[in-house]
Amino acid sequence: MPRPLPAAADLISAIQAGDRAALGRTITLLESTRPEHLVRAREVITGLEDKRPKATPLTLRVGITGAPGAGKSTLIEVLGSMLTARGHRVAVLAIDPSSAISKGSILGDKTRMEHLSADERAFIRPSPSSENLGGVARKTRETIALVEAAGYEIIFIETVGTGQSEIAVHSMTDVFLLVLLPGAGDELQGIKRGIVEMADILAVNKSDGERIKTAQQAKANYHNATHLLPTKSSGWAPKIVLCSAIENTGITELWKVVEAYTTATRQNDWLTQNRKQQAQYWLHEAIQQGLQSLFSQNTAVREVLAKMEQAVTQGTISPFIAAEKVLQAFK
Ligand code: GDP
Repeated sequence: MPRPLPAAADLISAIQAGDRAALGRTITLLESTRPEHLVRAREVITGLEDKRPKATPLTLRVGITGAPGAGKSTLIEVLGSMLTARGHRVAVLAIDPSSAISKGSILGDKTRMEHLSADERAFIRPSPSSENLGGVARKTRETIALVEAAGYEIIFIETVGTGQSEIAVHSMTDVFLLVLLPGAGDELQGIKRGIVEMADILAVNKSDGERIKTAQQAKANYHNATHLLPTKSSGWAPKIVLCSAIENTGITELWKVVEAYTTATRQNDWLTQNRKQQAQYWLHEAIQQGLQSLFSQNTAVREVLAKMEQAVTQGTISPFIAAEKVLQAFK
């Protein structure tokens, strides 16, 4: 039997009291395909936002990518724990491109972040699943709004992919971190150039033990490689940091670079301008997705579309004239 829909006021007060299960439940509503669930989740977001102190400082949204095994989870675990120890509240979300295709997941569940999951100041949520990456991304973007309204100030959004999922993460974050291994720097480990271009900080993880020498060499190579890239609109030149998530070295230094980045991009106002642009982008994305679902659920459209699919395969009408007829049915 389905659980009864909780009242918005109950969810709001539970979330305000730090109840992470209530937060998780609201995200589930946000991810649901049932309109009444979505409406309820949005009531919770608005309610929480209304109750937030007006002068809350800007949150920080950090995108993280890197090949499987590069150490993203381990790194988020130590970075996150360091930040909660400093009194911050940290949320970890994910965009898993494989969750758009199958139930399987490249990122895996985040139970690996054992320490952080047990931390009261942290909230970890695996990737939503959806029929397409656009859906996964939109849900994650809305979840960011929810966790921020719930009082989480630093949000990590992790992904691993071939480019599309990085573009999605990039479109909702303030800073983008690429996790690399201390391998041969020249090839950038087969990571697509577009992903490297998005990165503000390159973290060469596993710079420990015998790998330290290679790591230093890799740093020099990455430095040369990123120097050849066009200047970013933020005015920030990518930085390379050596670290070891396992030995917890270079982690404070890594965060110092993130802080230097936020200081610089706040000073030149890029951070705010970027968020404004992202807000416009998500407005258009949400409209497109909304239109798409209105369109596909429209009975007149379905009828005409079925006929036109046949007509097109039989060659009795051009696809373009047929499309026009389907659109007319929608209008
Ligand atoms: P992800 O797939 O990018 O999330 O990578 P994980 O965080 O799951 O790490 C993959 C493997 O690398 C695990 O066995 C980790 O213990 C190991 N690992 C992660 N960070 C480090 C590090 O800094 N040094 C070493 N030596 N191993 C690491």
